[in-house]
Amino acid sequence: MGNGFDFSVERLAGTGVPGGKAPASESGRYTGQSDGTDLNVGHYKRSPQHGGVNVPLQNGIGAGTFYLETFGCQMNEHDSEKVAGVLLARGYTQVERTDEASVILYNTCSIREKAAQKVFSRLGEYRTTRKEGQVIGVLGCVAQQEGEDIFERAPWVSLVCGSASYRKLPELLAQLEAGGKRITGLDLDTDETFETEITRRDNPWRAYLTIIEGCDKACSYCVVPYTRGPERSRASASVLVEVRQLADMGYTEVQLLGQTVNSYADPSARRMRFSELLEAVAEVAGIRRVRFTTSHPRDFGKDIVEAIETVPGICEHVHLPVQSGSTNVLRAMARTYTRDEYLEKIALLHGSKRRISITTDLIVGFPGETEKDFKETLSLLDAVQYDGAFSFKYSPRPNTPSLKMDDAIPEEEKSRRLATLMEKQREIQRARNERLVGETVEVLVEGKSKRENQWSGHTSSNKVMNFTSPEQKLLGHYVQVRVTGASPNSLIGEHTKV
Ligand code: SAM
Ligand code: SF4
Repeated sequence: MGNGFDFSVERLAGTGVPGGKAPASESGRYTGQSDGTDLNVGHYKRSPQHGGVNVPLQNGIGAGTFYLETFGCQMNEHDSEKVAGVLLARGYTQVERTDEASVILYNTCSIREKAAQKVFSRLGEYRTTRKEGQVIGVLGCVAQQEGEDIFERAPWVSLVCGSASYRKLPELLAQLEAGGKRITGLDLDTDETFETEITRRDNPWRAYLTIIEGCDKACSYCVVPYTRGPERSRASASVLVEVRQLADMGYTEVQLLGQTVNSYADPSARRMRFSELLEAVAEVAGIRRVRFTTSHPRDFGKDIVEAIETVPGICEHVHLPVQSGSTNVLRAMARTYTRDEYLEKIALLHGSKRRISITTDLIVGFPGETEKDFKETLSLLDAVQYDGAFSFKYSPRPNTPSLKMDDAIPEEEKSRRLATLMEKQREIQRARNERLVGETVEVLVEGKSKRENQWSGHTSSNKVMNFTSPEQKLLGHYVQVRVTGASPNSLIGEHTKV
């Protein structure tokens, strides 16, 4: 990740912009782009926060200060925005260094073993370095999965809180201040998941918004149903109220989030379909772009493609994880579709009047995956021509059915398959991006290089564009850029005046 880009934009709930965050692929590798995570932009800079009683304690830490570090997916990143918002609204101040913080929080990921290990190794650092009075807290998926066992493994941790309980964080911290030794917030069935008083958004132009929490799909390798609980959708009216507020605050792009975002089921009497919600969000005055992630193939229908075709504000990009190109492996994964059924969904996208870019997630080395199965995944790449892919080595996870499956694939073989897959996908991306050279595309400008006249942003199809312009003030603007060059992961261009 480069950090050669600089920002100076301030927003209501804190200052800052995204730092070129690496996607969560400890055991896998990213060979495409998604969610802006690989945008070549600068480090998130925070100035001293508003509010917050920042009284220095004797040992150098400020009272009412918190340090927050996030591991994992886009939903975790957004959860951290909510956590920061909840604490800032209660007068806490966010600090950049753990040794200045009275509360140190890790928002964790347990999707693959390496991600969970990383959290415990980070916690281990406090065995000897924790300062008197500092609270160490574990949030998110590892918290939900390991629960109170974390206190046994790392006795210096005093707070364990899952994603459904973040609104309660100030109360949980107050209990610790009042003398509590070990506090947990691990309910999964709370109705309070969505609405937080304030969300401190890191990106000044793109606002993330969770519309569905949890997952009911039960893929045999996945911890999400255990760590995030059953699917709960947010009422459409509540979503739209927040989108209008975001537009009033100056956000022009909204990304709707959910582990299976298109399984959205409006709990209100309005019963808005997901595609209707997309259209309604795109129609809010001031909103120019709407994105959504992650879509599950089973619930992906023609109506979503039609919405993209008819409403220009809905971005021409769909992230549709396939996981494997082999029907046998898909069955073992309990993905609920066959290779052919997945390809039928892809045909809807390929047949669209708009050129919709398609990205995916892939797992190699699932138990029992034969060389023939793996080759079917490679041939699926040829058939679909993805614009990007997150690819992972299968990682056995606690509580999941696949943990007990026979025929584990050796680690070296998983690595070989991953490397082969990535190399193939890289070449597909290179060819796809090269085909765009000469075209002019719209870019939302999100980053500026320290070098004169170098800018960066995303196209509607979610491709990263690095481009030159003689203009001085482009951040947050939508501009037309002519593509002059391409690599597998980004485009190069020149700002054209229209
Ligand atoms: N809900 C999304 C879906 O159904 O595709 C994905 C959510 S998951 C947080 C993101 C990706 O992590 C999955 O698509 C899958 O490729 C990968 N993943 C999940 N569990 C995994 C495991 N046990 N080993 C390797 N990769 C895994
Ligand atoms: Fe996990 Fe499957 Fe749910 Fe995605 S759909 S979150 S992979 S269980």
